[in-house]
Amino acid sequence: MSAISFKCPNCDGELVFDPATQKYKCEYCCSYFQREEINGQGAADEPKAEDAPETAGAEESEEEKEAREAGAVYACPSCGAEIVTDETTAATFCYYCHNPVVLSGRLSGEFLPDRVIPFAIDKEAAKQKFIEFFRKQKGIPRSFFNKKQMKKISGIYFPYFTYSSHLKGRLEAEGIKRRVWMQGDYEYTEKSVYRVEREGDIFVKDLAKNALTKTNHVLMEGILPYDLSEAKPFDMGYLSGFLAEKRDVGESEATSMFQSDAGARAKTHLRGSVWGYWSLDVENCEIFSEKGELSYVFLPVWTLTYQGKDGTTYYYSMNGQTGKVCGKFPVDYIRPILPAVLTGIVTLFIMIAGGCFLW
Ligand SMILES: [Zn+2]
Ligand SMILES: [Zn+2]
Repeated sequence: MSAISFKCPNCDGELVFDPATQKYKCEYCCSYFQREEINGQGAADEPKAEDAPETAGAEESEEEKEAREAGAVYACPSCGAEIVTDETTAATFCYYCHNPVVLSGRLSGEFLPDRVIPFAIDKEAAKQKFIEFFRKQKGIPRSFFNKKQMKKISGIYFPYFTYSSHLKGRLEAEGIKRRVWMQGDYEYTEKSVYRVEREGDIFVKDLAKNALTKTNHVLMEGILPYDLSEAKPFDMGYLSGFLAEKRDVGESEATSMFQSDAGARAKTHLRGSVWGYWSLDVENCEIFSEKGELSYVFLPVWTLTYQGKDGTTYYYSMNGQTGKVCGKFPVDYIRPILPAVLTGIVTLFIMIAGGCFLW
């Protein structure tokens, strides 16, 4: 069986993960349980057996396989009704009995996440934070925001890859310093040429990237960072009561994206360590990187769709651990702040022209 639900030991009702208490809550008898207390149930497919692929995957019949490829069909563990899902769905709700269902078969083998950051912000708190976010926006007329237009709020675990790596960098350049002074009627210019060399170790830690192609990358990466020190070993139980999506980005694809990203950051860092020259001509900048450590992690995201009065649907995302929000507002409303940005750019230009920045 590759669709599971977690049952209350008291009343057999469905359990959901409760962010406020970090326990499992029965919505029928209002009991709370620790993870250990619901172990050993049929529901608790032990997902931690890393080397053994889950039996759920092994038992998949030809029929099920075909269904999976076409957008799969599962049987609800509570009422037996058919649950039709997208190919990447890993946790959802039964359309008929509304009980939470975790599709454990989707998270087996190479698709078993290494870690998960459980939701720390529950639905009510998330709504409140979205409201605060809207209210704080400068230049947005009050009429844009109306609580009733908050259409749909969903808690979703999205798949991300994280990457840490050790790089070595080397930079060779020619730097020039100039000194100008007056003596009598003469202006003297002294030009000194320096050989500049930099070498160093650069450690990149916990870069994160969205690992699902169909999502909006701006919304998914605009709410980074997460505090990965709070990540837990992956457990299916955390998904109960939320939606979840598995990754469709491959490990090697992710690794090469991270490597070039880490390399670019290392170069910027190395270049930034050289300063004080009137001009700098970089002749050589090499970065050597080790293989690096890739980790597949489920991160909690609240998503909101908002129906604007102009008829447009706006999308917002919130980091389910820190409450950081990302999303766009109608372009018209952003105009009032444009002059300020322009002034900034003009000032910057004058400073550059005036030689405040030497390189
Ligand atoms: Zn119960
Ligand atoms: Zn059902």
